[in-house]
This record gives sequence, structure tokens and C-alpha cells, in this order.
Amino acid sequence: MTAANGRKSIFITGAASGMGLETARLFAGEGWFVGAVDVNTAGLGALKAELGDKVLTQVLDVTDRTAYAAALDAFAKATDGKLDLLFNNAGIGRGGPFIDQPWQDVMDVVNINFVAVLSGIHLAAPLLKATPGSLCFTTSSSSAIFGIPNIAVYSATKHAVKGLTEALSVELRAHGVRAADTLPGMIDTPILPDEAKANAPTEGMWRLTPPREVAQAVWDAYHSNKIHWYVPIELEAYDAMQTSNPEAIRDQMLSMGGLFSEGSETP
Ligand code: NAD
Repeated sequence: MTAANGRKSIFITGAASGMGLETARLFAGEGWFVGAVDVNTAGLGALKAELGDKVLTQVLDVTDRTAYAAALDAFAKATDGKLDLLFNNAGIGRGGPFIDQPWQDVMDVVNINFVAVLSGIHLAAPLLKATPGSLCFTTSSSSAIFGIPNIAVYSATKHAVKGLTEALSVELRAHGVRAADTLPGMIDTPILPDEAKANAPTEGMWRLTPPREVAQAVWDAYHSNKIHWYVPIELEAYDAMQTSNPEAIRDQMLSMGGLFSEGSETP
């Protein structure tokens, strides 16, 4: 049976692709035991073939709370009830003008990007509490800085993740658990439409950034006390501007007709 055998452990949702996949690779390379879950069976199979006994892969739809609990149970059996880092990262980016968006799309985005994050943290809390120095880490987004038109619901879920993280960074400390998140910009993963990648600038905060940089932020977050991890770092100044002058961002977006066109997905 695949087991941690005393290694530190990370549980990653959305681990079959993009930033979850790169994080699995980075942590396995650093000697950690990786729990990898996703709905993408083929991607998980490839990850298992690549990482062997460094990874326990399980097919999981994070919106299925019963199945999420079972996946964490199986993981806990392999780690003797320990979890050093929960990485709630699975997400979808379905968008479009809010008032025209099919209601099922709205609910899917809310359920996968936010409700499942609540579920995962709730279910994993006993493991995190049982592990000294543990970290609850979640993927928010640069769209949690100022809501992005045509991905309004997506942006709202990522704001919710950011607020949840801040509150839990205080609440969970009583249990010895830290909380942090990442706010990525335009990361070169399959979630981004080809058009968005092709039109991305080559420099500045909206440049196309490799998913390995997010994986590195997860690693750095575990070894730090910082709450928000902006990737790339230029987004931090954008967040400060948003706080002091959100109307300037709104007016800039109005003059551009919105940063992202209809139907585009993420960040
Ligand atoms: P990705 O599509 O490569 O990876 C997302 C993974 O989540 C996929 O493997 C997918 O199968 C999985 N997933 C989707 N629904 C699931 C479900 N119900 N249960 C389990 N797994 C599910 O894209 P990514 O860019 O690596 O996305 C990771 C996270 O980063 C997401 O939360 C996304 O919103 C966020 N994000 C992405 C960008 C970007 O530009 N790529 C920017 C900011 C935030």
C-alpha cells in the first residue's frame, strides 16, 4: 500500500492539471508524500505513473461531500492521521455576462470554487489540527482584487475564498493551524482560453506566467507566515491601488470595454 512512512504530506485538489499538477511535482521532488485528487482520471493516471509511491491518487469530485470525506479518510490511513498542507485548488472558470449566464453554470462555479473549499477545510480540520505547523492553503485569484467583468460569479467566489482565508488565519491559529492563499494572475494552464493566452502581454502583472511559479508560492507559503501570495508579485501593488481607488479601476475597465471578453475564463 502507498504510505507516507513519516514523510510530510500535502493533499491537493485539482492535482491532475495546471498549478495543482506542478505543485504535486514540486512537493514530491522535495520528499513529501502527495495526496492527489481530481475528476480527471487520465491526468491522475499519468501523475501516478510519474510519481509512483510518492503519490496517492484518487478520483474525486470535490462537490461530493461524502466522497471527499472518504478520500481524506483513505489519505489519513496512509499518513497516520497527519496532514501538513491542505491545498484546496480545484476550480472551473465558466463565465459570460452574469445576467445571461445559465443558472447551472452559476451554481457549478459557486459549488466547485467555493462551497467545496468550505467542505474540504471543514473535513480536513481534524487532520490539520493533529499536525504541528500545518497550513490550510487555497487558490483564490487576481479576480479577487477587483471583480472582473464577464467572470463576475467566478470573481465573487475568489473574493469569498480570500475573505475566508483571512478569517481562518486568525480562527485556526488557536489550533496551531495557519491559513493562506494565492492570488494568481494569468497562469499558463488549460483553464485559460487560447485567445487569452495569445493576447496576454509579455510583461507586467497580466503576463502569462508558468504554473511552476504558483507551485513555488505554495512551497514558500508553507515556510512563511504571509497570508496572500500574489503570482506574479506585481499584483500586490494592484491590490493596494484597488483599496485606495477602486473607481479608477472601474473607469479603466469601462474605457477598455472590460478586461476579458464574453465567455472568457479566469484568472
Ligand atoms: P486547470 O484546469 O489546469 O486545473 C484545474 C483542475 O481542477 C483540473 O484538473 C480539473 O479537472 C479540476 N477540477 C475541476 N472541477 C473539479 C471537481 N468538481 N472536482 C475535482 N477536481 C475538479 O487550471 P488551473 O489554472 O491549474 O486551476 C487551478 C486553480 O487556479 C483554479 O481554482 C482556478 O480557478 C485558479 N486560477 C487560475 C488562474 C489561471 O490563470 N490559470 C488564475 C487564477 C486562479
